Amino acid sequence: MRVLVSACLLGERCRYDGALKDDISETLQLLGLTPVAVCPEVLGGLAVPRPPSEIRNGSGRDVWLFSAAVINKEGRDVTNEFMLGAVKTLSVAMKQNIKFAVLKSKSPSCGVHEIYSGDFSGRLVEGMGVCAYLLCANGIVVMDEKDLKNKIK
Ligand code: SF4
Repeated sequence: MRVLVSACLLGERCRYDGALKDDISETLQLLGLTPVAVCPEVLGGLAVPRPPSEIRNGSGRDVWLFSAAVINKEGRDVTNEFMLGAVKTLSVAMKQNIKFAVLKSKSPSCGVHEIYSGDFSGRLVEGMGVCAYLLCANGIVVMDEKDLKNKIK
């Protein structure tokens, strides 16, 4: 079965800082899942490296309700790039009839359970990232890499 996966969880250097993080390729293979890599922020036109961004005044849901914005650490509003990347990610899923996604925790795009608070203080708040919310609202089951690891314990 094909699953949508945050590209930074598959060894791609697409994070804002270009760093490598957890690689879940082996876990996916053990579960017989075929990953389809996506990075919503890069799909939205943002570069690597780039300043980190956080959602101000809410979560990904509020971004889609136009009551919150994604602002990078330099103060630039990157909401449009985040929304465009999320729409492109949803389009990949729909074209390939993908029903599940494993996304990177805490990201303003991909976070599933919690995201940073919006003031770059390191504080986490409950809520989804911009892309995770759009996928979920369109019937795709989303989980993060920790949920996936818990499933095979
Ligand atoms: S968390 Fe999502 S948006 Fe951020 S680098 Fe990983 S795939 Fe890209």
